[in-house]
Amino acid sequence: MRYDLHIHTKYSRCSALQPARILKIAKKKKLDGIAITDHNTVRGALAVNKLNKDPDFEVVVGSEMKSEYGDVLIYYQNEEIKTRNFLELIDAVKQQGAMLAVAHPFRIVPWLKFKLPLKNLVGKVDAVETFNSRNAFWSNTIATKEAKKYGFAGVGGSDAHWPFDIGNGYTIFRDNLIKAIKTKQTEVGGTTYMVGLSAILSTVQSRIIYPIFS
Ligand SMILES: [Zn+2]
Ligand SMILES: [Zn+2]
Repeated sequence: MRYDLHIHTKYSRCSALQPARILKIAKKKKLDGIAITDHNTVRGALAVNKLNKDPDFEVVVGSEMKSEYGDVLIYYQNEEIKTRNFLELIDAVKQQGAMLAVAHPFRIVPWLKFKLPLKNLVGKVDAVETFNSRNAFWSNTIATKEAKKYGFAGVGGSDAHWPFDIGNGYTIFRDNLIKAIKTKQTEVGGTTYMVGLSAILSTVQSRIIYPIFS
């Protein structure tokens, strides 16, 4: 199975991706599933999931929540989570039977880096994002090395904000994603060559286009 586990929709102010378009592109790119992870809301994921009528394609409902230490990805989320407190987020995720992964822990932009060392997260999070297509490649290398050192399952995703991003990062596993993360039998892959363009477009979208049209 090959899933892109980090995709934004127009429910994130830095993306303009339409739910129906995401499904179309993901299938065209031969993905078996995707996780929709909008900034601080599950609404985009619910919208994409509702549109998916293909029993052979999985939409993992999730979000990317901002905590005081940095962004975390939530998978298999049922309802909106209000708290931004890291420890409360962990509780909320457990209560919903969802899973939690640290997003792009070693991104070079200082304010997007995760502020707790991975060794402090052992037993607290289910996985670490070891491949993100909007990371400079050495950020992924460090994340992979550190995750391995402390025994975390790795997940990979594109962090798509634009059509050309979808599928640029992915997680490979056998059968079932939850089981694969729990048994740490996941592999990641992808390409980071679109990082520059994707980031510039998101800045234009969130700073200029979004404020004008909403
Ligand atoms: Zn974003
Ligand atoms: Zn993201």
